[in-house]
Amino acid sequence: MSLSSVTASIITIGDELLIGQTVDTNSAFIAQELNKIGVWVKRRVAVGDVYDDIWQALDEEGKQADIVIITGGLGPTADDITKPLLCTYFGGKLVVNEKVLEHVKYLFEVIFRRTGPMLERNLKQAEVPDNCIVLHNKRGTAPGMWFSPPTPQQGEAPLNPPQGGFRGAGPIFISLPGVPHEMKGLMIDEVIPRLLKEFIMPAIVHRTAFTAGQGESMLAELLKDFEPTLPAHIKLAYLPNYGMVKLRLTSQGDTKEEVEKELTPYFEKLQELVKEFLVTNEDVGLEVVIGNLLKAKGKTMGTAESCTGGYIAHLITSIPGSSAYYKGSVIGYAYEVKENVLGVKHETLETAGAVSAETVKQMVQGALTVLDVDYALAVSGIMGPDGGTAEKPVGTVWMAVGNKEKVDTLKLNLRFDRQRNISMTAGYALNFLRKFILADS
Ligand code: ATP
Repeated sequence: MSLSSVTASIITIGDELLIGQTVDTNSAFIAQELNKIGVWVKRRVAVGDVYDDIWQALDEEGKQADIVIITGGLGPTADDITKPLLCTYFGGKLVVNEKVLEHVKYLFEVIFRRTGPMLERNLKQAEVPDNCIVLHNKRGTAPGMWFSPPTPQQGEAPLNPPQGGFRGAGPIFISLPGVPHEMKGLMIDEVIPRLLKEFIMPAIVHRTAFTAGQGESMLAELLKDFEPTLPAHIKLAYLPNYGMVKLRLTSQGDTKEEVEKELTPYFEKLQELVKEFLVTNEDVGLEVVIGNLLKAKGKTMGTAESCTGGYIAHLITSIPGSSAYYKGSVIGYAYEVKENVLGVKHETLETAGAVSAETVKQMVQGALTVLDVDYALAVSGIMGPDGGTAEKPVGTVWMAVGNKEKVDTLKLNLRFDRQRNISMTAGYALNFLRKFILADS
C-alpha cells in the first residue's frame, strides 16, 4: 500500500551508475525532498546511456507514478542523449531558447572566463524541446525540462488516469542534470515550488527516536506489546546504523496538525519504552547531540585520533557552528606523534602497546593540555585487514574520554571490514563521550 496518493518514480541515467563508479546520491536527495512535501516515491530505477533502455524506462515509470523525475545525460558530449530522446518521446522539436543561450554565454564569458568563440556543442546546450517548460539552472549550462501531460480532448479518456490529487491527466516528466549540485539547485528553486502548485499533497509526518547501545532485536522485544497497538496507517520502522538504531513512526493525513496530534501519544509511549537507550527524539546524528550538550554547558572539546585518522573530527566539524565548542584534533597515527605531540610515554607504547587502555588514557590527557579543552576523546585500534595478533585481533579498539578530573576507558571487539570498523568506532566513541558529558554535572 502506498502511503500517499501522489506518487513519484525516479530514473537516474548513466553507465557510471550501473558499474558502480558513481554512487547514485541524486535519487536519495530527490526522494528526501519529495517526501518532505508529501509525495510518496514508489520506485527508483537506474539505466545506462542506451537510447532504447531510457525509452523503455520512461514508458514503464510513466505508467507507475504521477511524477517521473529523470537525472543525467543532459551534457554536451555524445553520451548525453537524454534531451533529444525526450524531445522525440514527447513529439517536439529542438529550438534555441534565447534565455538559456544568454545564460550559457554569461557562464562561459563571465564565470568560467573563457576567451575565443564558444564550441558548437556548448551552444547546443541552449536548445530545448519546444513542448517543455524550461527550468532555469543557475549553477550550470544544462537547463531542466518539465513536460506536462497533454490535455485530453473533450470526451477522450486520459492515457494515464490521475491517481491522486493531480489536476491534470497523466504523469509529469521532469528532466534534471546529473551534476549533483545543479540537480539540487533545480529541485529546490524550481521543481518543489511547481509541484506544490500542481498537486494537492497529503501531509506525511515522521517522528524519530534515536537509540544507541542496544541492537534492533532487543529493541523489538521491548516494543512487542506496543507495535500491535498502532493503527494500520501508522508505521514503525527500525533503522539500524553503526551501533545505533533509529525508530521511526510515520503517518499521513490531510493536515500536518491532525497527523501530529494523533501521532504524538504513540511517539511518547515509544520513547518511554526505550528510555534507557534513548539518545534524542530528533532525527539528527550524535555529533549534533554532543554539540547541543556542549553549547548548553558552555564547554569545549577536542579529539586525539589514531585509527579513525580524523574521521571523528570530520563528523563533528560537518555541523555548522561547531567552532563554538570544538577546538581541534591531533591525528596521532604514528608512535612519534603520540609521544611528541600528545605526550604518551615511550615506555607505555613499548609495554602496553599503542592499542591499550593506558595509551588512550594518556592520549586524552595530552589532548586536554595541547588543545586546551574541557573534554577530550581518544581512539586507538586495529582496523584491518592486517595488523592483528592473537592477543589483539583486527577489530580491537580502545577509546577514552575525560576531563581534567577523570578519564574513562572502553574496549571494543569489532569484526568488520576496515571502513565499517572506522565508522563503528566513531559512533561508539561519540556515544561514549555523550554519556560522559551527561554524567559530568
Ligand atoms: P554534464 O553537463 O556534466 O554532462 P549531465 O546532466 O549530462 O551533466 P551526467 O553527464 O550524466 O550529467 O553526469 C554529470 C556528473 O554527475 C558526473 O560526474 C556523474 O558521475 C554525476 N552524476 C550523474 N548522475 C548521478 C547520480 N544519480 N548521483 C550522483 N552523481 C551523479
